[in-house]
Amino acid sequence: MEFRQSNKLNGVCYEIRGPVIEQANALEEAGHSVLRLNTGNPALFGFEAPEEIVQDMIRMLPQAHGYTDSRGVLSARRAVAQRYQALGVEGVTVDDVWLGNGVSELITMAVQALVEDGDEVLVPAPDFPLWTAVVTLSGGKAVHYVCDESAEWNPDLADMESRITDRTKAIVLINPNNPTGAVYPKEIVEGVLDLARRHGLMILADEIYDQILYDDEVHHSAAALGPDVVVLTFSGLSKTYRVAGFRSGWLVVSGPRQHARDYLEGLQMLASMRLCANAPAQYAIQAALGGRQSIRELTAPGGRLREQRDRAWEKLNEIPGVSCVKPKGALYAFPRIDPAVHPIVDDERFVLDLLLREKIQVVQGTGFNWARPDHFRILTLPYADDLESAIGRIGRFLAGYRQA
Ligand code: PLP
Repeated sequence: MEFRQSNKLNGVCYEIRGPVIEQANALEEAGHSVLRLNTGNPALFGFEAPEEIVQDMIRMLPQAHGYTDSRGVLSARRAVAQRYQALGVEGVTVDDVWLGNGVSELITMAVQALVEDGDEVLVPAPDFPLWTAVVTLSGGKAVHYVCDESAEWNPDLADMESRITDRTKAIVLINPNNPTGAVYPKEIVEGVLDLARRHGLMILADEIYDQILYDDEVHHSAAALGPDVVVLTFSGLSKTYRVAGFRSGWLVVSGPRQHARDYLEGLQMLASMRLCANAPAQYAIQAALGGRQSIRELTAPGGRLREQRDRAWEKLNEIPGVSCVKPKGALYAFPRIDPAVHPIVDDERFVLDLLLREKIQVVQGTGFNWARPDHFRILTLPYADDLESAIGRIGRFLAGYRQA
């Protein structure tokens, strides 16, 4: 008897945790030390969990052993609702908030509740690939709109509009963006909202990096700018509060919810089916949102994240044949390898060769649904000196690299 994976997984890809990982694990088992620059996990790079979050979780633990309401505990949902009210999102109440085991779970639920077989969802290219994977898994079609590298990686609104059909249900907006680090100007967010308004689409706004901004960048929340559009905003504790392992996130519904009653019932059913999010991690939310926002110090001039972003960007641009748009937010850089200088035809092979030779693990651009094999993503989470040394090694590797 052979057990085979379901056909529902046909076409579902998730390269960030893909085959290269197995090779990296094998190298580690053989005694090599591998510099893992593949997952945005701050804990691996010396970022500690903020003390007040940990203390609050410990304090609440004796009372956190039961299931909670499937939307989440009231105190945490209230803290989230207040945060979005303060950001100018009209009329958000605790009933508009769902808590989940990370944003990942909420993305899965939100898309599954929405997408019928053959429905289309507009997803950015490049994207955080969970979006494409979940749309595909739900029987839908992820239709990629282009983010324009020559325009600071902003979405190309004309391209986005040209891809809308009568099967399109929603537009995914990842702002600040993983992998590019783009932070969208107000006009772009307004332009996307305008398309949603004119074509009757939902906006799925992945704003998990909304507090990770450099150089006085301002984040424009889609929900705040579009009170007349149904927007689902996703965020959580993994990045801003550096506690990815706690698995704690939220989803906030805003806009004319009366047009989404049936959908929200479906979402609630999926929330009930997984009973509830991990309860201790739900209690961390109120402590995080109400506590000291240490992310501001990390991203300010002289702050650790800011210095690392600067160093990574400078050093990447020093590599002959490599250019990188300056990330304005988030925890990544997405450099381009000029095909005229380094003709790479298979970027997964490139990443594997880099891993085998230099013991550095990055993620190939095509893993983010980027169509050409000419980009890779690197984290800006390691200490600046470690980044400089890793990027120096990538540069030396590239100089002698040829793909047959
Ligand atoms: N959305 C984006 C854009 C991300 O980059 C990530 C994680 O890297 C997630 C969502 C998932 O976050 P979580 O840890 O809350 O599941």
